Amino acid sequence: MSPSATTEAPRPLEEYERLPDAELDARIGAARQALGPRLTILGHHYQRDEVVQYADFLGDSYRLSQRGAESTADFIVFCGVHFMAESADILARPAQRVILPDLGAGCSMADMADIADVEEAWASLTREFGDTFVPITYMNSTAAIKAFVGKHGGLVCTSSNARAAFEWAWARGERIFFLPDEHLGRNTGASLGVPLANIGMWDPRVDPKRALATVPKDTRLVVWRGHCSVHQRFTPDQAVFLRKEIPGIRIICHPECRYETCQAADLVGSTDFIIKTIANAAPGSKFAVGTEIHLVTRLARQHPDRLVMSMQRNVCACATMYRIDPVHLCWALENLVAGHVVNEIVVDDPTIEWAKVALGRMLEIR
Ligand code: SF4
Repeated sequence: MSPSATTEAPRPLEEYERLPDAELDARIGAARQALGPRLTILGHHYQRDEVVQYADFLGDSYRLSQRGAESTADFIVFCGVHFMAESADILARPAQRVILPDLGAGCSMADMADIADVEEAWASLTREFGDTFVPITYMNSTAAIKAFVGKHGGLVCTSSNARAAFEWAWARGERIFFLPDEHLGRNTGASLGVPLANIGMWDPRVDPKRALATVPKDTRLVVWRGHCSVHQRFTPDQAVFLRKEIPGIRIICHPECRYETCQAADLVGSTDFIIKTIANAAPGSKFAVGTEIHLVTRLARQHPDRLVMSMQRNVCACATMYRIDPVHLCWALENLVAGHVVNEIVVDDPTIEWAKVALGRMLEIR
């Protein structure tokens, strides 16, 4: 559905930059009211609270994209990062329009796998190993990578179903090519019995011939050299220190953390697993969490009878997610009210088609 017709130009972002918080709050509220059921706002778990307070749904990227598609809203405003808004557009009904309030909100991990580099790597790997690879991409990847994987017989996975995705792929081919997070790939492969020495790593920064030379001839898994700049900062030393300082504390981390960090943790699992584990823990339980700080502080507030803290002392937030703020949200919403769809995320039809194939295969294993 089109926004209401208007002849005025979109309102510039600069008009909003100096607005006091109370005014932004009132204007966001008024815009939400004006748009009513035509609008749904999605907030990722790692999003700051000043933004989360306006979200109709809070969740992980895949669940939020589903929520958007299930809603009757015409406009889906995704308070997350670029690949998440793309996923929402892939799943959205054709008439729905997806908006990312700040186009600068990318994801360092997704950006590490450029489609041209991936195609080059695939050509080298299939030349060397024949038709033995099944590609898998983590949800945290661009629409182009999801489509690539769909086109080549593979599937998308989340951090909750990565093990099942690996089993699915190995039932169909001898080897897996995993994108774009080396840590989730390595952690999942190792948990399914692949020796670390058997895991190849494709480094897109080196010449393909050199990259290929590092892949073991009998490999069952090749991981893309990519990582999350937030989760890679958690280390095994932090676990050792915390256990010494706080007796009884349990270390729980996300599988985007390094292999060594996951090995040092008591529990490893997806965002959903972390949330549920802490919610179901007995009062007095103590957790040091290896994931994004906004989720950790929210969990600490929700469970004041438990100790919930970050594994890391000087924590960094997800800097790109942090770009979404009430200023950008207010700007995007008021422009919608005025009939302008700003910062729309549009994935082209062939990409949507193949990305849906890869996502559909994921649904087979859930
Ligand atoms: S936390 Fe990491 S993987 Fe998630 S959006 Fe931020 S950079 Fe990307």
